[in-house]
Order: sequence, then C-alpha cells, then structure tokens
Amino acid sequence: MTILPAFKNAGLTRPIQTKLFIGGEFVDAIGGGTIDVLNPFDNSKICEIAEAREEDVDRAVEEAKAAFPAWSRMDAADRGQLLLKLADAIEANAEELIRLEALDTGHPVRDARKLDVPRTARCFRYFGGMADKVEGSLPPVYPGFINYVQREPLGVVGQIVPWNFPLMFTSWKMAPALAAGNTIVIKPAEITPLTTLRIAELMKEVGIPDGVVNVVPGYGHTAGARLSEHPDVKKIAFTGSTATGRRIVQASAGNLKKVQLELGGKGPNIIFKDAFLPAAIGGSAWAIFHNQGQACIAGSRIIIHEDVADEFTEKFAALAKSIRLGNPLDTNTEMGPLTSKMHQQRVLEYSKIAADEGGEIVTGGKAPDSAELENGCFVEPTIVRATIDSRVCQEEVFGPFVTVSTFREEEEALEMANGVIYGLGSGLWTQNLSRAHRFARDIQAGMVWINSYKVVHPASPFGGIGESGYGREMGFEVMHEYTQPKSVWVNVDAQVPPHYER
Ligand code: NAD
Repeated sequence: MTILPAFKNAGLTRPIQTKLFIGGEFVDAIGGGTIDVLNPFDNSKICEIAEAREEDVDRAVEEAKAAFPAWSRMDAADRGQLLLKLADAIEANAEELIRLEALDTGHPVRDARKLDVPRTARCFRYFGGMADKVEGSLPPVYPGFINYVQREPLGVVGQIVPWNFPLMFTSWKMAPALAAGNTIVIKPAEITPLTTLRIAELMKEVGIPDGVVNVVPGYGHTAGARLSEHPDVKKIAFTGSTATGRRIVQASAGNLKKVQLELGGKGPNIIFKDAFLPAAIGGSAWAIFHNQGQACIAGSRIIIHEDVADEFTEKFAALAKSIRLGNPLDTNTEMGPLTSKMHQQRVLEYSKIAADEGGEIVTGGKAPDSAELENGCFVEPTIVRATIDSRVCQEEVFGPFVTVSTFREEEEALEMANGVIYGLGSGLWTQNLSRAHRFARDIQAGMVWINSYKVVHPASPFGGIGESGYGREMGFEVMHEYTQPKSVWVNVDAQVPPHYER
C-alpha cells in the first residue's frame, strides 16, 4: 500500500486502511462501492473508502456472532488486558491519530492532542480495568433457596456513531461493550471513517481476536438501517440526531432488540448576577466554540440575568472575535472548519432564520472573509441575541452558534432552561451555593455543570432525558446497558421438594 498524497501532506508516514474491517481482515465491499472522504479544510478529496451495504453488514454480523462464544467466555481479566494494551497502542500512535482526526473532521490538532486522543486512551483503559469487576448480586429470598443474579453479555451489538467525535466515540461505544464480553459491528459516519479504521488495525495488532470487532463504514439508510433491523443484533447503541434515533427505534421492533440513544441537545447555560464573570465568559466560550460547536452537550443557549447581560455579551463577543480560525493541522489554529459543506450551509442558514425572527447578530453569522479559508466549511463564531421561544433558541444548530436571552427572576430562568424538547447537558454560573444545588435539582437534564461546562470522564454517566434519548454511556451505569441479569434459583436441599406459596 502506498501513502496517498493527502495523507503525506498531513504529515502521515504510513498508509491508512480504507477497506471494511470484517472478521479480522480489511476487505472490499461485496458490491464494490466506494465513498469519497473529503477534507473539510478545503473540500479536497482525501481518499475513497469501501462502502458497506446491507450484504456487508450481514457478513459482519455473522463474524461477530461466530466470535461471541469464545470472547464472552474468556477470562474477563484477559479481555481487560487487551483493552489496556489497546490504550497503550493508542498513546504510542498518538501523533498519527491526531493528524488523521484533524484531516478527516477539522478538529484542530491542538484539541486532538489535548483532548480526543488522551480521552480515547483513558476510556479504553478505564473499561479495561472494569472488565473483571462486573459483579452480580445475591438477593435475600425464601429460606431454603439461594438466588444468585449474574450479569451476562448480550451478544452481537450494533453501534452507530456520528461524525463530530469519531475517534473518541470508538472508545465510548466499544470499550464498555467489549469489557462486558459482547462482540461488535460498528458503523462510523460515512464522512469520518478514518480513525475508526485505524483503531480497528490497532485492535488486531494488540491481539483482539478476529470477528470481535467489525467496522462497516456506509450510509445510514443502507448499512445503518440494516444493522438496526438485523435479527441477530441484540442491541443498538446509537449516537446521532433525534430524527434518526426515532427510525432506529422503529427498526428495532422486529426482534425487540435493546436500544440506547444519545441524541441531540440544546444545552442551557445559565449565568446569574453573582457569577464570577471572567470564568463564566471563558467557560461559555468553551461550552459552545470547542469543536466548532459540533457537540450534543454544547452550551448553545445562554440564559443570563439582565443586569449583567450587556457587560457579559460585550466581553464574550470580544473573545469570540479573537478565536483564530485556520487549517486544523496548524498548531496555532483554535477553531477549524465544520465537518462538511452541507452542515456549514445548514448552520449559516440559522443566521438568516435568526435575523428573520428579529434576533440581533452580535458577531459572526457568516463564513470568514478570507481567501485561504474560502473553500473550507468555516463559520465564524456566532453570537445572537434572541428571545427564548424563537427557532434559534429551540432547535439544535450544532455549530459555533450561541443565543443570548435574558431573565429577571430565578423562576423565569428555570422555565427558560427547561422549555425545550431536549434534556442533555446544562450549566450554571453562580457563587450562591444553595441556588446552585437547587437548580441542579430542578433542571431537566442528564448532566449539570456548576461553574464549569462540558466536563466528561469515563467514570461519570453520560446521557440525556426527553428527546435527548435514553440509556447512559460511561461509568458503572453503562455496564448495565451492555449486560443483562440472569436470575438463578438453587434449592439448597435437593431431597426436599421446593416450597410453593399458595
Ligand atoms: P445522524 O443521525 O444523521 O447520523 C448519525 C449516524 O446515524 C451516522 O452514522 C449515520 O450514517 C447514521 N444513520 C443515518 N440514518 C440512519 C438510519 N436510517 N438508520 C441507521 N443509521 C442511520 O446525525 P449526525 O448529523 O451525523 O450527527 C449529529 C447529531 O448527533 C446531532 O443531533 C447531535 O446532537 C447528535 N450527537 C449526540 C451525542 C450524544 O451523546 N447525545 C453526541 C454527539 C452527537
């Protein structure tokens, strides 16, 4: 295999896999189809990858099914050891993964170096350690009986992920599923498959047995839909939009497979009058502008006390204007392009919607005026003053686009925060301890950050309520998502007939 020019130009020094990973081998798609992978910095073609369709998914499920008995019965400590080795391999190949993610998604290398890659390794390591700590229970039942409950893996799980954090999501999805003893067919988003394929290669190198993990990049309506309806898939773990989440639930009905959904969000970020403003300004910028706002937990709705709104907005806009946009491969770049042209257009459309609805565009709202960036999928950091019931305050934009709305009374702030269909991430900034905890109690969301935003850790459950989905990733919580209880009854005296209640 030769190194394609786009990879060479990105500083990569070895060929990158572009085929499907099925049964431990990189193979062409049965139908021979391919998908062009584009560089969002300038929309040039990076490479072609094999396009998985229904028949490829079927083949991958078959391999995962065949690998399940041995993998699930392996000593859990040995499974964990393989995940620990994988974490080491990710760190040893960090520079390559950083560049590949930057090239494929537009994540600035400085973010990928500080966040995506270390978080991916940490997550595989955390669940590697978890593998042999999944305990059952011994409920106190009738005298004469022992009842033990063991947690068993589900079988083949299908995992479908979006394009915003493809590398990190390999670990969020695969690490707990593998630790629990399941085998996997994972479908990366069709536009960002490269780091997932590289992780598959590393999995093979560290000795994860063939067929335990299979990677099938392909389109949602073909490969994704087949995985969701497949009768031999016992669970779908999905991260993506709420609309697709609904389709997956419908497709799951055939064999009543389990479904776990991490969907959209419209995170409220509430700033009280007593907030320490410099921290709230910096934290709010991180909450919305990191990864170009392409985060389900982004703090995309600032809800601020009217007395501090002007000062906050002025300083926040100055910070937004100072963010350096550029080539994600350049270490000085603080914000890269959005991940696709189509998505850039969608985000820009929301500036028009805001203006039509009477919102005030404080800064941004357009692509940057720069010859160097004009072919890329860039959007300037955008701040819009808008009323809370406007479309831009209700619909997920999923870009560097944040609304600012004001409140006077505390109850009003809570009502505004809870007034959307989503309930994923949320944040608040105050120095009043009881108010902070009162809001943490009353906000309808899966996660609340107090005087911070968007902090995640593999030990802490991640997920949402309402139309943000159900089920949790991470923490011990997720081990329950990837295992099912089996209740075993033992009559301790085999000579005595069992006791029945009449
Ligand atoms: P999307 O729903 O369009 O696509 C996500 C994945 O689903 C892709 O792999 C796609 O190919 C696949 N897919 C599409 N149609 C399908 C179908 N009919 N059956 C099966 N699979 C199908 O979402 P997107 O636009 O790629 O991603 C952005 C969305 O993801 C946003 O709404 C964002 O909030 C959400 N997201 C949620 C979380 C979370 O943890 N809650 C994290 C990141 C992103």
